Amino acid sequence: MSVAEIERALREQKCPVCLEINNRVELFFRWFDIEYCHEFTMMELLARGGFCPRHGNRIAEIGSKLARTYEYITKERRERMEEVSKLVLAFRENRWRKTFNLLRKSYQKKLKRLLSFETLCPACTTEHEARQFGVMKMADFLKAEANRDQYSNLPALCWTHMSDVLVVSEPEVALFLADCHRKQLARWEKDFAEYFRKMDYRYAHEPKGGEQHAWLKALKFFTGCTDK
Ligand SMILES: [Zn+2]
Ligand SMILES: [Zn+2]
Repeated sequence: MSVAEIERALREQKCPVCLEINNRVELFFRWFDIEYCHEFTMMELLARGGFCPRHGNRIAEIGSKLARTYEYITKERRERMEEVSKLVLAFRENRWRKTFNLLRKSYQKKLKRLLSFETLCPACTTEHEARQFGVMKMADFLKAEANRDQYSNLPALCWTHMSDVLVVSEPEVALFLADCHRKQLARWEKDFAEYFRKMDYRYAHEPKGGEQHAWLKALKFFTGCTDK
């Protein structure tokens, strides 16, 4: 993410870190479709974890090309279930299992190891890396006073990523961010007051202005959504 890209995101009032995450995840999906989905290392990784429901829904759009990928994962999981059966049978045959609680604990630990996964969803990993990268780039960008001036006119980081940047920044930048976004929130509070004032029948005839969109600005800030 270059300075020019950060500046463009600010002009478009989009959180630069959210954009970086969206772009990188989209790129991951494109390459997953073109190449990764049939790569052995990716299939291995998916067999040991797999996509989270959020990204699984997105991956499903690729369609029947995924048959080979999921054939591989299915085979791996079937083999794993065979190991599970062996383990359960051995436990059932163990005549001490009702006497020693430790035996049960060790058995359950082994079962858990076979049935649960430590490998993260690869798209979530991409998101995590892009977030760290984007936050670092924004923290760098805000080190320059001229950039801070520019940002204060167009504060566009979402709450989550503003917090990330604030935490890793030097006090000067952290104070700047806290002040800048406090002012932004105070402006919206005024907008909301104006919005509700105009809901009153006595003032309802007054022309509607920017206060009508305060809810959307706040929603975008708090959730980081960049669609509108
Ligand atoms: Zn964001
Ligand atoms: Zn995921």
